[in-house]
Amino acid sequence: MKRSTAEILYRFENLRIPSRSDIIELLKMEETVPLFSAADRMRRRYVGDQVHLRGIIEFSNHCVKNCLYCGLRRGNKALERYRMTPDEIVEAAREGVRAGIRTIVLQSGEDAFFSAAILADIVTRLKELDVAVTLSVGDRPKRDYRILREAGADRYLLKHETAHREMFRRLRPGTTLEGRKKRLLWLKGLGFQVGSGNMIGLPGQTVGILADDILLMRELDVEMAGIGPFIPNDNTPLAGCRGGDVTMTLKVLAVTRLVLPAVHLPATTALATIHPEGRQMALRCGANVVMPDITPVRYKKLYEIYPNKVCITEDGPGQCIPCISGMIRQSGRSVATDPGHGRRSWSDGSQQRG
Ligand code: SAH
Ligand code: SF4
Repeated sequence: MKRSTAEILYRFENLRIPSRSDIIELLKMEETVPLFSAADRMRRRYVGDQVHLRGIIEFSNHCVKNCLYCGLRRGNKALERYRMTPDEIVEAAREGVRAGIRTIVLQSGEDAFFSAAILADIVTRLKELDVAVTLSVGDRPKRDYRILREAGADRYLLKHETAHREMFRRLRPGTTLEGRKKRLLWLKGLGFQVGSGNMIGLPGQTVGILADDILLMRELDVEMAGIGPFIPNDNTPLAGCRGGDVTMTLKVLAVTRLVLPAVHLPATTALATIHPEGRQMALRCGANVVMPDITPVRYKKLYEIYPNKVCITEDGPGQCIPCISGMIRQSGRSVATDPGHGRRSWSDGSQQRG
């Protein structure tokens, strides 16, 4: 290892304020073992050996937006659309809870059919199951977020996707990075535990932009960071692009763990989709969360954000949760039994400890 990178890792492990150039240097490192080991140590020190399961229910694939990278975009006429009923959503959650899930994530395209009132009613019913509830339903007016928070939703996942203003505007027509950041700040202000995140390998992305992604999540002091590879979808304008690679995704995960020590960091399904050992590798590079898909099988194959998603053939949580739990134990870790609420990622006094 180059002396300079050893020094950077030392500084990061001792919680010095990270600089953009140091982050770039780490992302460019060819010898990845020291970076991954440092992230693994940091993960153990700040969030321990337990892995939190977040059961995700993808309840609607209707979307009014037209993001260039995503298969749910309204311009994709090849996709059969569905909506689950509130009863189906609650039943899927109940099955997940029976299998040991303590957090339910409700995710969808931006679907106006699910008004704040309808969603709030679903949240209230889910809270009766004694679970933490995360919502991931995109851009909404502030009053909707307030209604959902008052209904008991604990967390909100709204990935910033890319910290590059121009790229954001191009990839998410009609929306801006500023608008996304404003919403993340509203959500924080309303008392949600907030998750952001980005995709690795978007066309035109550089390591400098990836460093900005990490620094933006630090600036927002998010409780969760959803980081996964971009996987091109044939039914989108980005068909034929290269997509993200495994090593760069792991490096971004590892550096994020170093820069946001207490953050909840999922080993994403997207990473498992591009590599059969993707989740296991992520768990060794700083990740401490896995998000089993507990959507009923007939729907989950239609939630085709990207192609060839793994784990869409399991019959349900009764089969999927034991399989994922086994993988976690084989990785030398244990499955958490509490809801795993988040702490702010770095500002809870951690900066002084070094
Ligand atoms: N509509 C909501 C939530 C659903 S999309 C929203 O956009 O916030 C969930 C996530 O899927 C997005 O945040 C994005 O990061 C990811 N995604 C979309 N298209 C993808 C692709 N082609 N490859 C990998 N991830 C993708
Ligand atoms: Fe819709 Fe979200 Fe896909 Fe964009 S990323 S098209 S908002 S589902």
